[in-house]
Amino acid sequence: MLAMSLRPIYGHEAMLHRLAGALASSRFPQAALFVGPPGVGKQRLALWVAQGLLCESGPGAPCGECRSCHQVLDLQHPDLHWFVPITRPKAGDPDKQVAEAEELLGEAMAGRRSDPLYRRPEGMVSHSLACIRLLQRKVSVTPFQGHKKVFLVGDADRMIVQRASQEAANALLKVLEEPPEDTVLILTTSEPHALLPTIRSRLVPTRVGRVGDSVVRAFLERELDPPPEGAALESRVLLAEGSIGRALWSSEEGDAAGRAADALLDAVRKGPGSWSRVALAQTPWSARGDFSHTLDALAVRLRDGLVERAEAGGELRGWLEALERVEETRAEAQGNVNPQLALAVLAGDLERLL
Ligand SMILES: [Zn+2]
Repeated sequence: MLAMSLRPIYGHEAMLHRLAGALASSRFPQAALFVGPPGVGKQRLALWVAQGLLCESGPGAPCGECRSCHQVLDLQHPDLHWFVPITRPKAGDPDKQVAEAEELLGEAMAGRRSDPLYRRPEGMVSHSLACIRLLQRKVSVTPFQGHKKVFLVGDADRMIVQRASQEAANALLKVLEEPPEDTVLILTTSEPHALLPTIRSRLVPTRVGRVGDSVVRAFLERELDPPPEGAALESRVLLAEGSIGRALWSSEEGDAAGRAADALLDAVRKGPGSWSRVALAQTPWSARGDFSHTLDALAVRLRDGLVERAEAGGELRGWLEALERVEETRAEAQGNVNPQLALAVLAGDLERLL
């Protein structure tokens, strides 16, 4: 059996039929946006389109047999450029930042190759200006292997948290305005309103819907090892609400971190007496991993709040700063910092900023 990185697509039959038609008649847009709930398979479908565009057997649905098709499935195709949100490069020099972004993306792809059932991106990661510059550079290079190159930007709304997001947006806009003839760009998002209207207006939208419970169940039974059974299987199917990604993400660990993050935010709203108690309750020296997970969950909540505020036209500065503070605390948490103290300082900052 061939070692294939990507799992087959489950469900989405009507969508695949439509996409195959667009590919066969070369009508697939040069700049597309796949929109739909988290985890429904937007990026997986975009990879299928990329496979079809790069397939050596001609326009249409991917043949699944040729060298290009295998390379896409193994995430090894030189003309497929998959941009996923990554931690912000630390280098000061812009050129070094781009090089660092390329390295981080390479690591992220290596991770996907070894475990294609990836999780929802962590709270801190984003498409920084350096990533968009890297994309710009790659767009201007001629394809290595065939006649086309495909760019996939997953969770495209993750540009919002950057202070430099306007600059990143402008750089992306430049690419979208005049992509080279040989280039196709597919962005995916579950938060289309978090994209700047100028960017959104350049993209041809496609809605990706949920799949049926039976499809989620079939995926879990066939693709997980060991597969969940009985009540555990059914509860995961139920919680997934038609999203295979959600079925994969639902885990005890995530729930615990989410509860800890909610408790902290709740305490922050109640004031110092309340959040200092939560900070003191943080396990001091052990469970460093738990602490990082809590901060991740906290970042996800702040990010969701940011998106809501952006949609409502609210002031974002305090929230952006709060998110940066969480990011800093998470970096510190990797080192020899006292989590109780770090959490107390963070809570004080959040009370001021939110
Ligand atoms: Zn092929």
